[in-house]
Amino acid sequence: MLTAQELASKVSAYQPLADVEFVHRAYAFAERAHTGQLRKSGDPYFVHPVSVAAIVTELRLDVASVCAALLHDVLEDCSVSERDLEAEFGPEVTFLVDGVTKLNQIDFRSKQDRVAESFRKMVGAMSRDIRVLVVKLCDRLDNMRTLEHMSLDGQERIARETMDIYAPLANRLGLSNFRNELQDLSFRYLQPEGFATVSHAVEKDEPRRQAASAKVCRLLTNKLSEQGFPAQVSGRQKGLYSIWRKMQDRQCGYEQIYDHSAFRVVVESVADCYATLGVVHSMWTPVPGRFKDYIALPKPNMYQALHTTVFGPDRQRIEVQTRTREMHQVAEYGIAAHWRFREKIGGGIDAKDAAPFAWLRQLMDSQSEFTDPAEFLESLKGDLFQDEVFVFTPKGDLRTFVRGSTPIDFAFGIHTNLGTRCSGARVNGSVVPLGYKLRNGDLVEIVTSNEQQPVKEWLDWAVTSRARGRIRTHLRQLQRERSIKLGRELLERELHAAGISFARLEKNARELAELCAHFGVKGGDELFVGVGYGRIKPQQIVEALSPKQHEGGPTPPPSIREGRIEAFVRKVTGKSSQGILLNGTDDMLVRYTKCCNPLPGDDIVGFLTRGRGITVHRRNCEKAFTSDPGRRVEVKWDAKAKINRPVRLTVTTANRPGILATVGSTFHAEGINISEATCRASDDGRATNTFTFLCGDVTQLKGVMRRLQKIDGVVEVERA
Ligand code: MN
Repeated sequence: MLTAQELASKVSAYQPLADVEFVHRAYAFAERAHTGQLRKSGDPYFVHPVSVAAIVTELRLDVASVCAALLHDVLEDCSVSERDLEAEFGPEVTFLVDGVTKLNQIDFRSKQDRVAESFRKMVGAMSRDIRVLVVKLCDRLDNMRTLEHMSLDGQERIARETMDIYAPLANRLGLSNFRNELQDLSFRYLQPEGFATVSHAVEKDEPRRQAASAKVCRLLTNKLSEQGFPAQVSGRQKGLYSIWRKMQDRQCGYEQIYDHSAFRVVVESVADCYATLGVVHSMWTPVPGRFKDYIALPKPNMYQALHTTVFGPDRQRIEVQTRTREMHQVAEYGIAAHWRFREKIGGGIDAKDAAPFAWLRQLMDSQSEFTDPAEFLESLKGDLFQDEVFVFTPKGDLRTFVRGSTPIDFAFGIHTNLGTRCSGARVNGSVVPLGYKLRNGDLVEIVTSNEQQPVKEWLDWAVTSRARGRIRTHLRQLQRERSIKLGRELLERELHAAGISFARLEKNARELAELCAHFGVKGGDELFVGVGYGRIKPQQIVEALSPKQHEGGPTPPPSIREGRIEAFVRKVTGKSSQGILLNGTDDMLVRYTKCCNPLPGDDIVGFLTRGRGITVHRRNCEKAFTSDPGRRVEVKWDAKAKINRPVRLTVTTANRPGILATVGSTFHAEGINISEATCRASDDGRATNTFTFLCGDVTQLKGVMRRLQKIDGVVEVERA
């Protein structure tokens, strides 16, 4: 365990002007507070905060962070209050300690909504001061290093949490070494067998790897200095977990994974980086498609370097990462490197430093869009823990999105208004579907239309929490409007049948208020929503309005269940459903349209109509396009219902004798009775015949159409 003096001198080593007096005081304070407490290992508890502080100094964080590390457990585990802490160390350190304490209290196993709530707090604390998260990561790293003393259950839980949450967060902060160590440590506890396999293989391979690595380093260093680029070259074994993942992905053994070593070349200037790349490619053949220019396009965590993979001296694949000293610092220390370059002592991060953390602010923004905590958590994980793609706006601005993002995400990422009106997209000048997955370097243009509104399908395509949240908000709004409309219609119809004027009811504020109170809803709109969702039956309202007509007094208010759109329409009329299902329910009034005569099997959509239930169109019917999209509902054919629907076919034939009889017998052979037929000969030697008949479904129709087409003399068969 480090002494206070040793810790303080570590800090002075990288921050000569630091007020290390604070470090001494925090050390003594924490030591006193933890007196008598033991860790599971039997060591004094105080060993832990000192280790965490030591890790914090490795990242070269400021004095406040070092103090926060020393004090990070005193609020939770000792009888120390926030006020004590603030009196002793001031608001900055107290804020950090408090933030870390709150993060400790997150239990990722607890109920989803509690996790989400904790996550919100965490995101909140992080976005106010990222040092909270950095100190927390140091804490977690020390816990992982000493995890062997935990119970098996605890090991598994903490390792899982580390793998799923903290390792990706470390990566987000640009702390790649942290990420690797956290992953490897979790890996050991989560998949002990896999870990044993890989670590054994790596160990056995060590001598060979060392030799190979030394050879590459020597060749590279010599060649580069020959060419006038003094460079530091070092070889590095990739993390055990990342090797394991590669083995899993490629379904192969350790021997087949060639690129498990990476080489770092640190040079003087950016120009030297590109020159070095040239030298590397002249020595060894590059592997196509593996060159990545993170200097021109830095990762969102600020990482910069040139990556390339080449076939090395023994034809093995090796990865070479070239960067300047400054870039190297960022790669090693992430966000912490930025503080150092600005030589800021103490204080949070200013706006300029915070720019790369736009994702944090976006998270904060988007969380308000979610009413379902589970959905928020899922999206959050999606945002935090995926790779990025870089794309350009038409103006040439660079934007970053998580991998798998689509033009929908892009549109919402630019502006909500652009998202909601997004009707199409062009990538690099060509029209692409909205489900297109963005690729690095794409230039994305969004086509908008004022008629466009978010539709449910978009949720299949959008992956960012921002887009998904906004789409959900819109859909909820639309659904609400729709159910108000539907509820009004259903009620109006029912009241009309009972001889009650809907218009009068609506104007009679007192009666309406009584009615709302009766059903336990807040206002007229809520009442209609209730009816639209099927929570309140229109008959119940009629009964409530005219209780005397019914024996036994007014009906008790229905239990207001969670809104299920499935229950959209309940028994509106006594009529049968005529083979249509609306979200699984068949109790509704359906009207088929004459314009397109939909047939079971056709792709169909429904439209709510005032007082006439739902009209059903074929999806490609022109009317379906021009009808009010706000009244549109998704309907399905009821596979169980056996219904026959009238269909009209136009059959164009050569005008010659006997052909009509052949056509007629073909219908007969298919078991179809023609109910109406018209025949008209035209001047060009052709005849146009129209047949109307009842048909069971599209398959039957297609069958008869195919047979008709095969008849010699039939020119065209068309569905009217
Ligand atoms: Mn701790």
